[in-house]
Amino acid sequence: MSKNKSSESVKVVVRCRPLNRKEESSGPPGGIVQMDLRLGQVILRNPRAPASEPQKTFTFDAVYDANSKQRDLYDESVRPLIDSVLAGFNGTIFAYGQTGTGKTYTMQGAWMDPEKRGVIPNSFDHIFTHISRSQSDKQYLVRASYLEIYLEEVRDLLDPNHGSARALELRESPDRGVYVRDLTSCVCKSIKEIEEVMNVGNQARAVGATDMNEHSSRSHALFLITVECSQPGPDGRKHIRVGRLNLVDLAGSERQAKTGVQGERLKEAAKINLSLSALGNVISALADGRSSHVPYRDSKLTRLLQDSLGGNAKTVMVATLGPAPQHYDETLTTLRYANRAKNIQNQPRVNEDPKDALLREFQNEIARLRAQLSCRKWRSKQKKEQVDGEGWERNGDEETDGEEEVEKEAEEYVKLEEQRLEREKEAIREDQFLLAEEKQRLLGEKERMMGDLRKEQEATEQLTAKYKAMESKLLVGGKNIIDHTNEQQKMLEMKRQEIAEQTRSEREIQQQMLVRDEETVELRETFTSLQQEVEAKTKKLKKLYAKLQCIKAEIQDVNDEHVRSRQELEQTQNELTRELKFKYLIIENFIPPEEKNKIMNRLTFDPEEDQWKFQPLVPAESKSSQMKKRPASAVGYKRPISQYARVAIAMGAHSRYRAENIMFLELDMTPPNTASLDRSAEAEPNQSHSVDSSPTKDRGVRKSQSWCQTPKSITSSSSNVSLAACHTATPMAAQ
Ligand code: ADP
Ligand code: MG
Repeated sequence: MSKNKSSESVKVVVRCRPLNRKEESSGPPGGIVQMDLRLGQVILRNPRAPASEPQKTFTFDAVYDANSKQRDLYDESVRPLIDSVLAGFNGTIFAYGQTGTGKTYTMQGAWMDPEKRGVIPNSFDHIFTHISRSQSDKQYLVRASYLEIYLEEVRDLLDPNHGSARALELRESPDRGVYVRDLTSCVCKSIKEIEEVMNVGNQARAVGATDMNEHSSRSHALFLITVECSQPGPDGRKHIRVGRLNLVDLAGSERQAKTGVQGERLKEAAKINLSLSALGNVISALADGRSSHVPYRDSKLTRLLQDSLGGNAKTVMVATLGPAPQHYDETLTTLRYANRAKNIQNQPRVNEDPKDALLREFQNEIARLRAQLSCRKWRSKQKKEQVDGEGWERNGDEETDGEEEVEKEAEEYVKLEEQRLEREKEAIREDQFLLAEEKQRLLGEKERMMGDLRKEQEATEQLTAKYKAMESKLLVGGKNIIDHTNEQQKMLEMKRQEIAEQTRSEREIQQQMLVRDEETVELRETFTSLQQEVEAKTKKLKKLYAKLQCIKAEIQDVNDEHVRSRQELEQTQNELTRELKFKYLIIENFIPPEEKNKIMNRLTFDPEEDQWKFQPLVPAESKSSQMKKRPASAVGYKRPISQYARVAIAMGAHSRYRAENIMFLELDMTPPNTASLDRSAEAEPNQSHSVDSSPTKDRGVRKSQSWCQTPKSITSSSSNVSLAACHTATPMAAQ
């Protein structure tokens, strides 16, 4: 990726949490992570390697050790980003690391405790304090959304039916980039309101999961804040800037064991790390700079973060580490991942006057309501003036009338008008010269006029309420939110920010110096003797040799890891193939081909969703024409009824729940009368043969148990022989 003027790299900071009680008591003493805060370096010791092996050193934009405060991380690494968002840039902060290393602690923290508030609650304070301290010609609109990605499904955490709601779809538009369709977005007017939004989402996340830690280590949570700001430009028109902030708490980066799982669990296992491995691939592709294809479309997460990685956004990545020796491999992987992300170049730019700015819509709507309202009030005011008898005499100073005065006069007009109508009604009632009918008519008319007046007033009140509700959503710089911090506190904040700024720039200078030192050390050295030169060169050689060894070890490590992840992928592939073969087996053997074809014909691929989907059985537009009509039920009956039932009803019998309704169960008791009887008649002369054959005789008298009641009835067997035997048996019995 070419570096251009406006490009800047992703900022990567690393944070290591303290050893927890369990690790302190069970594992070997001491952590494996050392940090040089001044230089922004992490030094990692391999607990299994001999002491002679060099330690691994990584350099980042900033590092935070176990003693670091939430506030330090915020002021130094996050504050500048939020300032950019307030100026109209897109910004993303994501926490990456193994489960239990402090991602959620860093992003959320214990938000009730001012010392432990994480990035998200601190950014709320920051945004609303900024608005309260900005100039009054600025108008702001702040919106928040909260979603999670679990098993490659996007779920809205602010939806009241979170658990049962359908997964949301991702859409892409040229104006907005990738966005989530139908995502709830709440307009927030204060810190309290936005905290409420966060709480609702957190609860939904907790409720959706039986085991919170299990769930959270497999789901990605995204808190989205959109800050729109309108300000008059030099051209006199109002310009809108839109800053979008993504606050991302990623799933745990540790490898989920995939061995020996089947069915749903296997599908889950295959999806769990899909987003994370896709994120890794995207980062690798971007950091590499050579690959032309960046696989953003491989997962939901990477699509949503497309702008944040290599696009129009400023991005901070917080990689979290645990210091325990038993997690050395994971810690090293996290550090490598973070190290790679440093090389990603983004092209942030201010989003000026985008088409989809909601603030513009709000402003237009407010202006429309306001125009309607003032039109109404002017009408009332003019009427009042006419009533007062002033007519248009005061035309001259109309324009100088303030809005408040118009409103007051309009209200007065309504009051006066009501009083006048009341008076007139009273006069009509007391008038003795009027006929009763006439009186009634006049009173009715006045009544109607009063009704109209009241309706008019109600409509105005409704309009006013709507207008006020709409207007209250917009925050005006320094007006809606009152900043309660006093001057001293403000000064303190400023000083703290200055210090953070200074620390940051100092570290940058230190890092640059370190690099330059290594490059120029050779140039500065002049040698007085050969011996000295040999010594210096040997020293340098040794240093370079050590470096070479380090890099060789690194290559080996990377190779090992590559092999490991390949093996895992192969294993997953094998398991999925087995599962697939099993499914095929079932389809081929147990599903009739015509049914299979029916299903296959209904399948279509949705490129937007990257999924196969079923088409509805009947195309939506021709639903009414093509749908088979349900048989109509008889008048007055809920269900369609059979012919039998209809006859039964006509005869007054019970028509339902009778087997006769379906089957004819009358027994046919007439003896079988088949053509073979004739044949046996023909066989009559051949008598002796039948008599002697005793087995045939036996068979002939055997009774069928199934449906013959009378022992004498001759039955079931339709064989010619038996029937012939029966026939011949009769004369024998007579003998
Ligand atoms: P993750 O979200 O990465 O799975 P958590 O944020 O839930 O991890 O952290 C696990 C535990 O470690 C929590 O009890 C948290 O309070 C604690 N913890 C994490 N980071 C820190 C830190 N920097 N200082 C103190 N405690 C921490
Ligand atoms: Mg977590």
